[in-house]
Amino acid sequence: MSLLHLQELDAAHVIGTYARLPLEIVRGEGARVWDDEGREYLDLLCGISVTSLGHCHPAIVEAIREQAGMLMHASNLFYTEPGIRLAERLSAGSLGGKVFFCNSGAEANEAALKLARREKCGGEVVSVVGGFHGRTFGALSATAQESKQAPFAPLVPGFRAVAPTADAIENAVHDGTAAVLIEPIQGEGGVHPIANEVLEAARRACDRHGSALIFDEVQTGMGRTGTLWAYEQTGVVPDALTTAKALGGGLPIGALVTGPRLAETLQAGDHGSTFAGGPLVARAALAALEVTEDPALLARVRALGERMRAEIAALDGVDAVRGRGLMIGFDLHGGEAPAFVLRAIAQERLIMNATGPQTVRLLPPLTLTDDEAADAVARIGRMLA
Ligand code: PLP
Repeated sequence: MSLLHLQELDAAHVIGTYARLPLEIVRGEGARVWDDEGREYLDLLCGISVTSLGHCHPAIVEAIREQAGMLMHASNLFYTEPGIRLAERLSAGSLGGKVFFCNSGAEANEAALKLARREKCGGEVVSVVGGFHGRTFGALSATAQESKQAPFAPLVPGFRAVAPTADAIENAVHDGTAAVLIEPIQGEGGVHPIANEVLEAARRACDRHGSALIFDEVQTGMGRTGTLWAYEQTGVVPDALTTAKALGGGLPIGALVTGPRLAETLQAGDHGSTFAGGPLVARAALAALEVTEDPALLARVRALGERMRAEIAALDGVDAVRGRGLMIGFDLHGGEAPAFVLRAIAQERLIMNATGPQTVRLLPPLTLTDDEAADAVARIGRMLA
Protein backbone atom coordinates (compact mmCIF):
# COMPACT_ATOMS: atom_id res chain seq x y z
CA MET A 1 0.00 0.00 0.00
CA SER A 2 1.41 3.42 -0.92
CA LEU A 3 2.06 6.03 1.76
CA LEU A 4 -0.55 8.27 0.15
CA HIS A 5 -3.20 5.56 0.37
CA LEU A 6 -2.24 4.82 3.98
CA GLN A 7 -2.52 8.52 4.83
CA GLU A 8 -6.02 8.60 3.31
CA LEU A 9 -7.09 5.52 5.28
CA ASP A 10 -5.60 6.99 8.47
CA ALA A 11 -7.44 10.27 7.95
CA ALA A 12 -10.68 8.41 7.31
CA HIS A 13 -10.55 5.92 10.17
CA VAL A 14 -8.14 6.93 12.94
CA ILE A 15 -9.11 9.71 15.35
CA GLY A 16 -6.74 12.47 14.42
CA THR A 17 -4.87 13.05 17.68
CA TYR A 18 -1.43 12.60 16.13
CA ALA A 19 0.45 14.84 13.71
CA ARG A 20 2.36 12.03 12.02
CA LEU A 21 5.52 12.56 10.01
CA PRO A 22 5.17 11.50 6.34
CA LEU A 23 6.97 8.17 6.63
CA GLU A 24 5.72 4.60 6.80
CA ILE A 25 8.05 2.38 8.79
CA VAL A 26 7.80 -1.30 7.97
CA ARG A 27 10.93 -2.89 9.49
CA GLY A 28 13.63 -2.11 12.01
CA GLU A 29 16.98 -3.56 13.05
CA GLY A 30 19.35 -1.93 15.51
CA ALA A 31 19.60 1.78 14.77
CA ARG A 32 18.03 1.41 11.33
CA VAL A 33 14.50 1.31 9.98
CA TRP A 34 13.18 0.80 6.47
CA ASP A 35 10.19 2.38 4.78
CA ASP A 36 7.59 0.80 2.48
CA GLU A 37 9.84 1.31 -0.53
CA GLY A 38 12.89 -0.28 1.07
CA ARG A 39 14.72 2.97 1.85
CA GLU A 40 16.94 2.86 4.93
CA TYR A 41 16.88 5.48 7.71
CA LEU A 42 19.08 6.08 10.74
CA ASP A 43 16.74 6.19 13.72
CA LEU A 44 17.79 8.68 16.40
CA LEU A 45 14.43 8.61 18.14
CA CYS A 46 13.71 4.93 18.96
CA GLY A 47 9.94 5.35 18.95
CA ILE A 48 10.39 8.14 21.52
CA SER A 49 12.85 6.23 23.70
CA VAL A 50 10.99 2.92 23.61
CA THR A 51 13.24 0.69 21.48
CA SER A 52 16.24 1.97 23.41
CA LEU A 53 18.33 -1.12 22.76
CA GLY A 54 17.75 -0.80 19.03
CA HIS A 55 14.96 -2.31 16.97
CA CYS A 56 14.36 -6.04 17.40
CA HIS A 57 17.21 -6.64 19.87
CA PRO A 58 17.86 -10.41 19.57
CA ALA A 59 17.61 -11.08 23.33
CA ILE A 60 14.24 -9.35 23.51
CA VAL A 61 12.90 -11.02 20.37
CA GLU A 62 13.96 -14.41 21.71
CA ALA A 63 12.32 -13.80 25.10
CA ILE A 64 9.06 -12.72 23.43
CA ARG A 65 9.09 -15.69 21.04
CA GLU A 66 9.62 -18.18 23.84
CA GLN A 67 7.03 -16.65 26.17
CA ALA A 68 4.44 -16.13 23.41
CA GLY A 69 4.44 -19.86 22.75
CA MET A 70 4.01 -20.66 26.45
CA LEU A 71 1.66 -18.15 28.10
CA MET A 72 0.73 -14.61 27.07
CA HIS A 73 -1.81 -13.66 29.71
CA ALA A 74 -3.34 -15.06 32.83
CA SER A 75 -4.55 -11.91 34.72
CA ASN A 76 -3.59 -10.75 38.17
CA LEU A 77 -6.05 -13.19 39.70
CA PHE A 78 -3.17 -15.69 39.51
CA TYR A 79 0.58 -15.85 40.06
CA THR A 80 2.86 -15.71 37.04
CA GLU A 81 6.62 -15.80 37.43
CA PRO A 82 7.98 -13.23 34.92
CA GLY A 83 6.22 -10.21 36.45
CA ILE A 84 7.18 -11.14 39.99
CA ARG A 85 10.81 -11.70 38.95
CA LEU A 86 10.73 -8.35 37.15
CA ALA A 87 9.45 -6.59 40.28
CA GLU A 88 12.24 -8.18 42.33
CA ARG A 89 14.84 -7.05 39.84
CA LEU A 90 13.47 -3.53 39.38
CA SER A 91 13.31 -2.99 43.09
CA ALA A 92 16.80 -4.40 43.72
CA GLY A 93 18.19 -2.13 40.97
CA SER A 94 16.59 1.04 42.35
CA LEU A 95 14.71 2.08 45.48
CA GLY A 96 14.42 -1.25 47.30
CA GLY A 97 10.68 -1.13 47.97
CA LYS A 98 7.88 -2.67 45.91
CA VAL A 99 6.48 -2.36 42.38
CA PHE A 100 3.05 -1.78 40.86
CA PHE A 101 2.81 -2.63 37.16
CA CYS A 102 0.67 -0.92 34.55
CA ASN A 103 0.81 -0.35 30.80
CA SER A 104 2.16 3.14 30.06
CA GLY A 105 3.90 6.19 31.47
CA ALA A 106 0.68 8.05 32.19
CA GLU A 107 -0.67 5.04 34.07
CA ALA A 108 2.54 4.77 36.08
CA ASN A 109 2.06 8.39 37.14
CA GLU A 110 -1.61 7.75 37.94
CA ALA A 111 -0.49 4.95 40.24
CA ALA A 112 2.07 7.28 41.85
CA LEU A 113 -0.58 9.96 42.40
CA LYS A 114 -2.97 7.47 43.96
CA LEU A 115 -0.17 6.20 46.18
CA ALA A 116 0.60 9.74 47.35
CA ARG A 117 -3.07 10.51 48.08
CA ARG A 118 -3.49 7.18 49.86
CA GLU A 119 -0.51 8.05 52.05
CA LYS A 120 -1.70 11.59 52.77
CA CYS A 121 -5.45 11.71 52.40
CA GLY A 122 -6.66 14.77 50.43
CA GLY A 123 -3.09 15.99 49.97
CA GLU A 124 -1.96 18.40 47.28
CA VAL A 125 0.39 17.50 44.43
CA VAL A 126 3.13 19.92 43.40
CA SER A 127 4.62 19.67 39.91
CA VAL A 128 6.76 22.05 37.90
CA VAL A 129 6.06 24.20 34.88
CA GLY A 130 7.30 22.74 31.59
CA GLY A 131 6.99 19.16 32.82
CA PHE A 132 5.10 16.38 31.06
CA HIS A 133 3.54 13.43 32.86
CA GLY A 134 0.98 12.03 30.42
CA ARG A 135 -2.51 12.58 29.03
CA THR A 136 -4.84 10.85 31.48
CA PHE A 137 -6.68 13.13 33.90
CA GLY A 138 -4.38 12.78 36.92
CA ALA A 139 -1.20 12.89 34.86
CA LEU A 140 -2.59 15.78 32.81
CA SER A 141 -3.44 17.67 36.00
CA ALA A 142 0.26 17.48 36.90
CA THR A 143 1.29 18.55 33.37
CA ALA A 144 1.40 22.30 33.68
CA GLN A 145 0.87 23.22 30.04
CA GLU A 146 -2.07 25.45 29.24
CA SER A 147 -2.57 24.13 25.70
CA LYS A 148 -2.82 20.52 26.87
CA GLN A 149 -4.93 21.19 29.98
CA ALA A 150 -7.36 23.92 28.94
CA PRO A 151 -9.65 21.92 26.59
CA PHE A 152 -10.26 19.32 29.31
CA ALA A 153 -11.11 21.48 32.30
CA PRO A 154 -12.11 20.91 34.99
CA LEU A 155 -9.08 18.83 35.89
CA VAL A 156 -8.42 16.88 39.09
CA PRO A 157 -8.45 19.25 42.09
CA GLY A 158 -5.48 19.63 44.40
CA PHE A 159 -2.67 20.16 41.88
CA ARG A 160 -0.32 23.10 41.93
CA ALA A 161 2.41 23.94 39.38
CA VAL A 162 5.43 26.05 40.30
CA ALA A 163 8.58 27.23 38.55
CA PRO A 164 11.40 24.67 38.60
CA THR A 165 13.43 26.60 41.19
CA ALA A 166 14.51 25.67 44.69
CA ASP A 167 12.66 28.61 46.26
CA ALA A 168 9.42 28.00 44.38
CA ILE A 169 9.31 24.35 45.38
CA GLU A 170 10.26 24.99 49.01
CA ASN A 171 7.59 27.69 49.26
CA ALA A 172 4.92 25.49 47.67
CA VAL A 173 5.36 22.40 49.84
CA HIS A 174 3.51 22.38 53.18
CA ASP A 175 2.11 19.86 55.63
CA GLY A 176 -0.83 19.23 53.32
CA THR A 177 1.38 18.32 50.35
CA ALA A 178 1.04 14.67 49.39
CA ALA A 179 3.72 14.66 46.70
CA VAL A 180 6.15 16.55 44.55
CA LEU A 181 6.18 14.97 41.08
CA ILE A 182 9.11 15.96 38.88
CA GLU A 183 11.14 14.74 35.89
CA PRO A 184 14.90 14.86 36.62
CA ILE A 185 15.28 16.02 33.01
CA GLN A 186 12.22 17.46 31.30
CA GLY A 187 11.94 15.50 28.06
CA GLU A 188 8.87 16.61 26.14
CA GLY A 189 9.50 20.11 27.47
CA GLY A 190 12.70 20.32 25.40
CA VAL A 191 15.39 18.28 27.23
CA HIS A 192 15.89 20.60 30.20
CA PRO A 193 17.82 19.04 33.09
CA ILE A 194 16.50 20.16 36.49
CA ALA A 195 19.45 21.47 38.52
CA ASN A 196 20.57 19.20 41.36
CA GLU A 197 20.05 22.05 43.84
CA VAL A 198 16.37 22.16 42.83
CA LEU A 199 15.99 18.41 43.34
CA GLU A 200 17.81 18.72 46.68
CA ALA A 201 15.41 21.48 47.73
CA ALA A 202 12.47 19.28 46.78
CA ARG A 203 13.96 16.44 48.84
CA ARG A 204 14.40 18.74 51.87
CA ALA A 205 10.88 20.14 51.55
CA CYS A 206 9.34 16.66 51.27
CA ASP A 207 11.32 15.44 54.30
CA ARG A 208 10.26 18.47 56.33
CA HIS A 209 6.56 18.02 55.57
CA GLY A 210 6.23 14.26 55.23
CA SER A 211 5.47 14.46 51.50
CA ALA A 212 6.47 11.92 48.87
CA LEU A 213 9.16 12.92 46.38
CA ILE A 214 8.32 11.14 43.13
CA PHE A 215 10.60 11.20 40.10
CA ASP A 216 8.98 10.66 36.73
CA GLU A 217 11.66 8.57 35.00
CA VAL A 218 9.42 7.48 32.16
CA GLN A 219 11.80 9.04 29.65
CA THR A 220 15.02 9.35 31.67
CA GLY A 221 15.01 5.81 33.04
CA MET A 222 16.27 2.50 31.67
CA GLY A 223 19.78 3.72 30.94
CA ARG A 224 18.84 6.70 28.78
CA THR A 225 21.07 9.13 30.71
CA GLY A 226 23.97 6.71 31.23
CA THR A 227 22.91 5.26 34.58
CA LEU A 228 20.00 2.86 34.93
CA TRP A 229 18.00 5.70 36.55
CA ALA A 230 18.69 9.40 36.17
CA TYR A 231 18.33 10.01 39.93
CA GLU A 232 21.60 8.13 40.45
CA GLN A 233 23.48 11.09 38.96
CA THR A 234 21.65 13.72 41.00
CA GLY A 235 22.59 12.71 44.54
CA VAL A 236 18.88 12.79 45.41
CA VAL A 237 16.97 9.59 46.13
CA PRO A 238 13.20 9.88 45.59
CA ASP A 239 10.57 8.01 47.62
CA ALA A 240 9.20 6.51 44.41
CA LEU A 241 9.83 6.61 40.68
CA THR A 242 7.79 5.88 37.61
CA THR A 243 9.04 4.14 34.49
CA ALA A 244 7.61 2.98 31.14
CA LYS A 245 8.81 3.59 27.54
CA ALA A 246 12.04 1.53 27.28
CA LEU A 247 11.10 -0.78 30.14
CA GLY A 248 9.37 -3.28 27.84
CA GLY A 249 12.05 -3.31 25.15
CA GLY A 250 9.35 -2.25 22.66
CA LEU A 251 6.25 -3.70 24.32
CA PRO A 252 3.91 -1.57 26.47
CA ILE A 253 4.55 -1.73 30.20
CA GLY A 254 4.84 0.86 32.94
CA ALA A 255 5.73 0.61 36.60
CA LEU A 256 5.62 2.53 39.83
CA VAL A 257 8.63 1.61 41.96
CA THR A 258 8.62 2.64 45.61
CA GLY A 259 11.22 2.90 48.29
CA PRO A 260 10.66 1.02 51.56
CA ARG A 261 8.65 3.84 53.22
CA LEU A 262 5.82 3.67 50.67
CA ALA A 263 5.98 -0.04 49.89
CA GLU A 264 2.90 -0.97 51.93
CA THR A 265 0.77 2.14 51.28
CA LEU A 266 -1.44 0.72 48.54
CA GLN A 267 -3.55 -2.17 49.77
CA ALA A 268 -5.61 -4.92 48.13
CA GLY A 269 -8.36 -3.36 46.03
CA ASP A 270 -6.81 0.13 45.95
CA HIS A 271 -5.61 -0.08 42.36
CA GLY A 272 -5.30 -2.54 39.51
CA SER A 273 -5.13 -3.18 35.78
CA THR A 274 -6.14 -6.23 33.74
CA PHE A 275 -3.02 -6.45 31.58
CA ALA A 276 -0.51 -5.15 34.12
CA GLY A 277 2.74 -7.07 34.50
CA GLY A 278 1.54 -9.90 32.26
CA PRO A 279 4.00 -12.66 31.42
CA LEU A 280 4.72 -11.68 27.81
CA VAL A 281 5.67 -8.08 28.44
CA ALA A 282 7.40 -8.95 31.70
CA ARG A 283 9.67 -11.42 29.87
CA ALA A 284 10.51 -8.72 27.33
CA ALA A 285 11.22 -6.26 30.15
CA LEU A 286 13.42 -8.76 32.00
CA ALA A 287 15.45 -9.22 28.82
CA ALA A 288 15.68 -5.45 28.28
CA LEU A 289 16.73 -4.85 31.88
CA GLU A 290 19.37 -7.57 31.72
CA VAL A 291 21.01 -5.93 28.68
CA THR A 292 20.62 -2.37 30.01
CA GLU A 293 22.09 -3.04 33.46
CA ASP A 294 25.49 -3.86 31.92
CA PRO A 295 27.91 -1.27 33.40
CA ALA A 296 29.92 -1.24 30.17
CA LEU A 297 26.83 -0.28 28.15
CA LEU A 298 25.95 2.49 30.61
CA ALA A 299 29.51 3.87 30.61
CA ARG A 300 29.41 3.94 26.83
CA VAL A 301 26.11 5.84 26.87
CA ARG A 302 27.70 8.51 29.08
CA ALA A 303 30.84 8.82 26.94
CA LEU A 304 29.05 8.71 23.58
CA GLY A 305 26.45 11.23 24.77
CA GLU A 306 29.15 13.68 25.82
CA ARG A 307 30.95 13.28 22.53
CA MET A 308 27.81 13.75 20.43
CA ARG A 309 26.78 16.83 22.43
CA ALA A 310 30.24 18.37 21.96
CA GLU A 311 30.21 17.62 18.23
CA ILE A 312 26.71 19.01 17.76
CA ALA A 313 27.58 22.13 19.78
CA ALA A 314 30.45 22.76 17.36
CA LEU A 315 28.12 22.86 14.32
CA ASP A 316 27.17 26.19 12.79
CA GLY A 317 23.53 27.05 13.39
CA VAL A 318 23.24 25.33 16.77
CA ASP A 319 22.53 27.72 19.64
CA ALA A 320 22.49 25.41 22.64
CA VAL A 321 22.89 21.71 23.40
CA ARG A 322 21.44 20.09 26.51
CA GLY A 323 20.95 16.69 28.07
CA ARG A 324 22.67 13.79 29.75
CA GLY A 325 23.79 10.48 28.30
CA LEU A 326 21.94 9.79 25.07
CA MET A 327 19.07 12.16 25.87
CA ILE A 328 20.06 15.11 23.71
CA GLY A 329 18.31 18.33 22.80
CA PHE A 330 19.63 21.17 20.71
CA ASP A 331 18.23 24.55 19.73
CA LEU A 332 18.46 25.75 16.15
CA HIS A 333 19.52 29.29 15.54
CA GLY A 334 16.42 30.99 14.17
CA GLY A 335 14.05 28.17 15.08
CA GLU A 336 12.26 26.01 12.48
CA ALA A 337 12.81 22.70 14.27
CA PRO A 338 9.65 21.04 12.85
CA ALA A 339 10.72 21.90 9.28
CA PHE A 340 14.27 20.75 10.05
CA VAL A 341 12.98 17.36 11.19
CA LEU A 342 10.89 16.96 8.04
CA ARG A 343 13.88 17.83 5.90
CA ALA A 344 16.07 15.41 7.83
CA ILE A 345 13.74 12.55 6.91
CA ALA A 346 13.49 13.50 3.24
CA GLN A 347 17.08 14.58 2.56
CA GLU A 348 19.27 12.73 5.04
CA ARG A 349 17.09 9.75 5.97
CA LEU A 350 17.56 10.66 9.58
CA ILE A 351 14.81 10.31 12.20
CA MET A 352 14.63 12.85 15.03
CA ASN A 353 11.82 14.94 16.47
CA ALA A 354 11.02 18.52 17.39
CA THR A 355 9.86 19.26 20.94
CA GLY A 356 9.11 22.89 20.14
CA PRO A 357 9.61 25.56 17.49
CA GLN A 358 13.36 25.66 18.12
CA THR A 359 14.35 22.41 19.77
CA VAL A 360 15.35 19.14 18.12
CA ARG A 361 15.45 16.05 20.34
CA LEU A 362 17.59 12.95 19.85
CA LEU A 363 16.91 9.73 21.76
CA PRO A 364 19.13 7.32 19.82
CA PRO A 365 19.55 3.67 20.72
CA LEU A 366 21.89 3.08 23.65
CA THR A 367 23.59 0.56 21.35
CA LEU A 368 24.47 3.18 18.71
CA THR A 369 27.95 2.42 17.35
CA ASP A 370 30.74 4.99 17.04
CA ASP A 371 30.38 4.92 13.26
CA GLU A 372 26.62 5.44 13.44
CA ALA A 373 27.08 8.33 15.88
CA ALA A 374 29.66 9.98 13.60
CA ASP A 375 27.39 9.42 10.61
CA ALA A 376 24.44 10.97 12.50
CA VAL A 377 26.39 14.10 13.42
CA ALA A 378 27.72 14.38 9.85
CA ARG A 379 24.18 14.22 8.46
CA ILE A 380 22.98 16.89 10.92
CA GLY A 381 26.00 19.00 9.98
CA ARG A 382 25.17 18.69 6.25
CA MET A 383 21.66 19.92 6.93
CA LEU A 384 22.93 22.94 8.80
CA ALA A 385 25.57 23.83 6.21
N1 PLP B 1 6.17 11.01 31.65
C1 PLP B 1 7.14 11.41 30.83
C2 PLP B 1 8.36 12.04 31.41
C3 PLP B 1 7.02 11.24 29.45
O1 PLP B 1 7.99 11.66 28.65
C4 PLP B 1 5.85 10.63 28.95
C5 PLP B 1 5.67 10.46 27.50
O2 PLP B 1 6.29 11.06 26.69
C6 PLP B 1 4.86 10.23 29.85
C7 PLP B 1 5.05 10.41 31.19
C8 PLP B 1 3.61 9.56 29.35
O3 PLP B 1 3.91 8.29 28.90
P1 PLP B 1 2.86 7.48 27.98
O4 PLP B 1 2.82 8.19 26.66
O5 PLP B 1 3.44 6.09 27.90
O6 PLP B 1 1.57 7.52 28.69
